[in-house]
Amino acid sequence: MRLVPLGVSGSFPGPATPASSYLVQVTAAEAAAAGHEARDWNVLLDLGNGAFGALQRHVEPRMLDAVSISHLHPDHCADLAGLYVYLRYHPEHGSLRAGRRNGPLPVYGPSTTERHVALSYGLSDGESMENDFDFRSWADHEQIEVGPLTIEPHRVFHPVETYGVRVTGPSAAGGTVTLAYTGDTDACTSVVDLARDADLLLSEAAFLEGRDDVVERGIHLTGHRAGQVATDAGARRLLLTHLPVWNDPADSLAEARATYAGPVDVAVPGEIYEL
Ligand SMILES: [Zn+2]
Ligand SMILES: [Zn+2]
Repeated sequence: MRLVPLGVSGSFPGPATPASSYLVQVTAAEAAAAGHEARDWNVLLDLGNGAFGALQRHVEPRMLDAVSISHLHPDHCADLAGLYVYLRYHPEHGSLRAGRRNGPLPVYGPSTTERHVALSYGLSDGESMENDFDFRSWADHEQIEVGPLTIEPHRVFHPVETYGVRVTGPSAAGGTVTLAYTGDTDACTSVVDLARDADLLLSEAAFLEGRDDVVERGIHLTGHRAGQVATDAGARRLLLTHLPVWNDPADSLAEARATYAGPVDVAVPGEIYEL
């Protein structure tokens, strides 16, 4: 199982990267070794502004097996409208999909995802995306399975309904590995639970200590708080993401290193992180 960040910019796209989106891939060999259908599996965690372009460098969008949406801020879901157009109007619609998956693409998200995405695209009353998207609502802690991957949503601490996800799947080295992705959240017991013993914690760290402490709590982690979550949870590796353009990544890294002794980096778009 591997993680490929497609976009890592916090809150809106930056000059060098789209907003949040992360591709999780399992190879056919890994899937077969774990007793699942021997084909490549592709699951997308969030699809923020601009990320649909980057996605196409890594996977044919019709090959996606599921999309997991943490919450409905545009930097996490805006490009679902573009993905919808691709699925709906691609001239070879269906011919490729038929051999790979049957029916519409499952899109997991908060309870109002279907209405939100329909409005963002401009569907009229009575129109639906049901031929292309199969919208399903997260239920806190209720696991879903996508081939060899198990995804468990954890409701976290953000101004709108938001879920971090714990993704467990086969390792190339054998056995299972766990990726925990925070979505957007401030520190809370739920995010520590989410990250418990994770092999890789992909954590947002949009705020900086001192600079953003004047803003109310319950919005974002700082590097300092992300490091504390990783320490409290016993996570084996920490990858910071969702840094807005006005952050110096070195500051966020320094904060995280003050509270977490394990390996920590800032996520690089297009890089492949093997788990
Ligand atoms: Zn965000
Ligand atoms: Zn948000």
